[in-house]
Amino acid sequence: MATHQELSLSTIDQAVAKASAAALVWGESKAAARAALLRGLAAALEQHQAELVVLADRESGLGAARLSGEVARTAFQLRGFADAVEAGLPYQRVNDAAVVGAPPVGRPQLIRVKRALGPVAMFSASNFPFAFSVLGGDTASALAAGCPVVVKAHPGHPELSLAVYELARRVVARQKLPEGVLTIIEGASRAAAGYLVQHPQIAAVAFTGSFQGGTALWKLVNERPRPIPFYGELGSINPLVALPAALEGNSQKLAALLAGSITQGCGQFCTSPGVIVVLDHPASERFIAELAEAIRPVKTHRMLTPSMKKGFDGASDTVASYATRVFQPEVDGVGPAPRLFSVGAKDFTINADLREEMFGPAALIVKATSIEQVEDVLGAISGTLTTTLWGVNEDSESNRALVHAAEAISGRVLFAGVPTGVAVCAAQQHGGPWPSSTAAQTTSVGYAAIERFLRPVALQDAPAWVLAM
Ligand code: NAP
Repeated sequence: MATHQELSLSTIDQAVAKASAAALVWGESKAAARAALLRGLAAALEQHQAELVVLADRESGLGAARLSGEVARTAFQLRGFADAVEAGLPYQRVNDAAVVGAPPVGRPQLIRVKRALGPVAMFSASNFPFAFSVLGGDTASALAAGCPVVVKAHPGHPELSLAVYELARRVVARQKLPEGVLTIIEGASRAAAGYLVQHPQIAAVAFTGSFQGGTALWKLVNERPRPIPFYGELGSINPLVALPAALEGNSQKLAALLAGSITQGCGQFCTSPGVIVVLDHPASERFIAELAEAIRPVKTHRMLTPSMKKGFDGASDTVASYATRVFQPEVDGVGPAPRLFSVGAKDFTINADLREEMFGPAALIVKATSIEQVEDVLGAISGTLTTTLWGVNEDSESNRALVHAAEAISGRVLFAGVPTGVAVCAAQQHGGPWPSSTAAQTTSVGYAAIERFLRPVALQDAPAWVLAM
């Protein structure tokens, strides 16, 4: 009798074989076909929104309002990638005409094109059951690039994953595309997931999840005889620097905004602001009191999975062992009670445990006595998806230093607002230096995400028929 693992492995072989069989056709497909598929997927999601949201809520507990918004975002994103494909993004070329004469001035004709990498293994995220799952940004950008996708379903929403996949499968069939353009692997063990990323016919991996899971898979990818790109979006603590220049105004409004951002989705956002840096100043003390007031009574919903709750309790207990509690959290209800901690800048910079992500409704306030100490705090964070700077509107030497420090560690730097909420557009950058992502020069949100799945090839003195491909 076959074991569970054997069954998973042969299922993986079949899915990857289908994807591989579709790779050439899909890689050479024209913009019209790719755009039609992406728009067809968006329409299918919207047509079945009501029942999908019920299913997603049952499995994730994220609530109908949030999940409906996420369906809208996912459909918008699919259509946005369709527009980007029609605008020619994956087909862009650089043409250098031949130049007569001796090198270095003289040269042959060179045309740089981009080719689809091939089948992509996509690991869905738990915290966005639509927007970072079966038909989320990784799938949309890989399909837009001309790469078939093998989805590794997240165990946190198995029924939803299957329902969305079934809709997608029907769209693929209706459009008479090879079924291997999109396949799914359900219930894979960790060993089976490792087998998938090491499969010789898999050409790239896209992953959103924990640092531990991401680095385990990243290592396996790099142990392959022929390593492939691994686009991992891992944990992030998203520091927010709130200077007195911002807090001397309407700090109460800012405190309410920040409390909402820290607790939104029960804090299960990769861009949740987990570290709040303030300067020693009366306006900062007032702001901390206002933040505590705003955050303490927030009632959260249940966390995505019991293991996520366990992880949050463990991470916040670790921070509590080094830091002061700003208030005693109320007893956990349906979801965990929000928590706020406080620590000095020096402790933060020397203690790596304080820089671990608390994935849940909590934040750590770091008190600095000078701008140099704020820079040290940012410098101690090796990589983060976002850094927010409040109060740097004036062009001054110290503000410039903070902007440099923020840019050095982050993919996105905000000068107003809060980091939760990641717009899908051409300029977006969602990915920062390690450990927030494994490929800081790429993004997993926005249309530039397509570039991850394309490889440049320079065609030298190519005949016309090759250039027409
Ligand atoms: P996760 O535990 O890393 O799981 C993500 C995916 O990878 C799942 O399909 C998981 O399946 C698989 N996986 C995990 N470890 C693996 C391993 N060693 N080998 C092979 N496959 C592995 O992430 P999660 O369940 O979504 O969330 C857990 C934590 O991730 C959170 O507490 C949070 O810290 C972080 N997180 C970060 C982001 C972000 O955007 N950066 C988003 C969500 C979560 P199995 O569990 O079945 O193995």
